[in-house]
Amino acid sequence: MRFDILTIFPNIFDSYINTSILKRAQEKKIIKIVTHDIRKFTKDKHNKVDDLPFGGGAGMVMTPQPLYDCIKHVKKLNKGPVIYLSPRGKTLSQSKVEQYSKKHKGMILLCGHYEGIDQRIIDSLVDEELSIGKYVLTGGELPAITVVDAVARLLPGVLGRAESHEEESFSKSLNRKKEYPHYTRPADFLGMKVPDVLMSGHHKEIAKWRKSKLS
Ligand code: SAM
Repeated sequence: MRFDILTIFPNIFDSYINTSILKRAQEKKIIKIVTHDIRKFTKDKHNKVDDLPFGGGAGMVMTPQPLYDCIKHVKKLNKGPVIYLSPRGKTLSQSKVEQYSKKHKGMILLCGHYEGIDQRIIDSLVDEELSIGKYVLTGGELPAITVVDAVARLLPGVLGRAESHEEESFSKSLNRKKEYPHYTRPADFLGMKVPDVLMSGHHKEIAKWRKSKLS
């Protein structure tokens, strides 16, 4: 799957996307992540990408021209939906992540800043507005990387057996519930013991205990 991320801060992504599982998934060519600097598309002689809001009020609004040209450019490279990360969007969930991972070969993720982007871009070029929760961040970069991470890990071959996503919080196989607790060695840590059942080797009992711990 191809992810194109449109941002005014492309450097933010370097470390996260070039580490661990996302790095490996790119090396295996299961995913491709490309960042685009919106500022490079501005025709403003001072390189501006934001301006004062019509109607007054605090904050700046990202201007339509660089966004328009950047999105038009990226749409030639990626046929997936244009998704604007926004607190006003529908909230991301695991079932939504599953749909994205199955339905699309690509996604275009648009990161806003300041007060957000000019509404005419949303009206004319955005397919979906997506929120990662009911709180406000300074920019869409963390939400964009959240989407990339959550979707990429569901693609076949991205996770090794040791990192399987089959039985995880909000997965279908756990009836969308929260997962049971995990323990590892040592069996006694500072007097805190691992539940006996997990060391019993009795698989049916372990499964029963785990089921009882779903919430
Ligand atoms: N004025 C906007 C509002 O009240 O809805 C908030 C703008 S926010 C400060 C700047 C940018 O951060 C947004 O354009 C969006 O791209 C991103 N952002 C902030 N919170 C977000 C969230 N919960 N989910 C997705 N994107 C978010």
